[in-house]
Amino acid sequence: MGSIELFNQNYTFILTLATLGFLLFSCFYASGDSDKLFAPMWMLFIGLVAEFSAEAIVAAATEIYTQGGEVKNYIFAELILLLVSAIFMGMAAIYLMVNNTVGYIFAGALGALGAVAIILFIFIIPDGNVINSMRFIFPLAGFSCVALGFWGKAGQEHGGGFLLGAVAATFVSILILLKFFNFNSDSAMFSYVPALFYLLMSFAFMMMKSGVLYARIEKANIQIEKYNNRIEEMIGLSPFPIIISRLGDDKIVLANNNACKLFGINSKELDRYHFKDFFADSDNRRLLTERLKTEKKVQDFEILVKIPTSDTPFWLLASANIMDYNDDVVLYSAFQDITSRKNRENLLKNQAIRDPLTSLYNRRYFEDEVSKQILALKAKNSPYSVLMLDADFFKKVNDTYGHKTGDKVLIELASTAERALRDNDIVARYGGEEFVIFLPGIKVEDGRGVADRLRQSISMQTVYSDDNTPVKFTVSIGVSSSEISDNVDMLIKTADEALYNAKQNGRNRVEVFEQKDLEKFVSQGQVERKDESQNHHPVFDKENNTEISLLDGIETGNIVEEQVVVEEKDSANTETREN
Ligand code: GH3
Ligand code: MG
Ligand code: MG
Repeated sequence: MGSIELFNQNYTFILTLATLGFLLFSCFYASGDSDKLFAPMWMLFIGLVAEFSAEAIVAAATEIYTQGGEVKNYIFAELILLLVSAIFMGMAAIYLMVNNTVGYIFAGALGALGAVAIILFIFIIPDGNVINSMRFIFPLAGFSCVALGFWGKAGQEHGGGFLLGAVAATFVSILILLKFFNFNSDSAMFSYVPALFYLLMSFAFMMMKSGVLYARIEKANIQIEKYNNRIEEMIGLSPFPIIISRLGDDKIVLANNNACKLFGINSKELDRYHFKDFFADSDNRRLLTERLKTEKKVQDFEILVKIPTSDTPFWLLASANIMDYNDDVVLYSAFQDITSRKNRENLLKNQAIRDPLTSLYNRRYFEDEVSKQILALKAKNSPYSVLMLDADFFKKVNDTYGHKTGDKVLIELASTAERALRDNDIVARYGGEEFVIFLPGIKVEDGRGVADRLRQSISMQTVYSDDNTPVKFTVSIGVSSSEISDNVDMLIKTADEALYNAKQNGRNRVEVFEQKDLEKFVSQGQVERKDESQNHHPVFDKENNTEISLLDGIETGNIVEEQVVVEEKDSANTETREN
């Protein structure tokens, strides 16, 4: 008998046992993360172990039989094991093919039938031929089922592992069939069949596992693609501009139409653009990057943006977060244009510090800012000058050409002064037609020069009245400086005193408040005027009447009202402001 020969040769036994161990290992490896494969693989393994044990019992029984011992119980155990093996293999096959309870029905039926046959032919009607047949029929049934299960599954899933299993089980079935008909039964070839089968099954299991893994990756890829498509769709539909840029190289990988329009991006060449190129302010960008590093997402972050197609930067409100997209870690940023909001904010800020007619700084800002600057300049021992400027015979301009033309003159005065001076000089509208100028770093002699050049350029300007008559105008300027005081009030007062002198001395001229004037100025509080009624003090006389309206030119109801009251008090002033 083949099986006896098999185990008489020790090395084939060890080899078979080793391959069974290998099958155990591959069963562990392959059944682990697939619920579908777990049950059939382990059932098949149990079936094969039962089959192997049956062969081992035959070897032991042969030994006892040759020594003249009783082997009935051994044969019983062998056949029961072969039956168990057939049941498990059959169940494995059914699980593979249909994956349901049919397996238990099959097991119950085969088990009952087989058990009855075994008991009947061993103990009740002992029949050597039937017993011998059962030795082949049970394994044959088991392997045929396995072959069937694997073929079925291979056809369904095109899995290489299933196909290999099917071929191996078919091959074993055919060999058992050949043995059953006693064909070539003693060939040494049969000794290696179990080992070969276990090995093939091991490979089949591993191939199934890799098939499962592959399918899983495939599925994951499909899922990722779906997810990416959904993101792209959502971004495309968004009413907000949205940009996706790679974190690694900062290149833009996706931008919706709104973003392309807003940033001036060519949608066909996205990877030419870097997100960082759109930041107008590198500090602003650094702040965003730092916050993203710590918080992973940032909401309502204001960024100042510049784009290649325009010179003026604009403000955007950005919400950004880091996420996965297309196998990359990316930054998803959505934007909202807040230029108009920012403009409004700036306007409000400017309204507080600027004069609406000329857009120059107002008096309050001038005083605050100059006090600060004087402190800094004093610390550096740096000089400065203050210029007080008043339009000459301005009432006449208003009277002759109308208030509107007067306003034009004031605007022209302001812009001429701003053009003529340096960026860090501070020009403010102090009152109606009076302006005050702070020149940091300029000592008094130079201050006089600046004032005179300014006076000259103003005298060269022309504005046109409503009926297109050219209107010329001049200014008188008083100069004070760091030599006189480091107090804004005092500086303004003394510059105004010099301005008074300029008016006295004929207008369209510059006068400087000298150190020698200081003693007299301080002791008298204010210099005596020759003829107070004609030559009122340019700034401070007006200050007695009103706070010098900074809102001249604003046409709001209650402000106009207030000014009318002021002017009513001033009997010398016959102008009406309403026009
Ligand atoms: P002087 O050379 O002595 O300075 O003569 P003046 O006519 O300029 O005299 P004064 O400074 O007293 O007069 C200023 C005038 O400027 C009176 C006022 O009606 C006018 N004024 C003040 N604010 C405005 C303004 O916002 N627009 C216009 N059009 N006129 C203004
Ligand atoms: Mg004047
Ligand atoms: Mg005046």
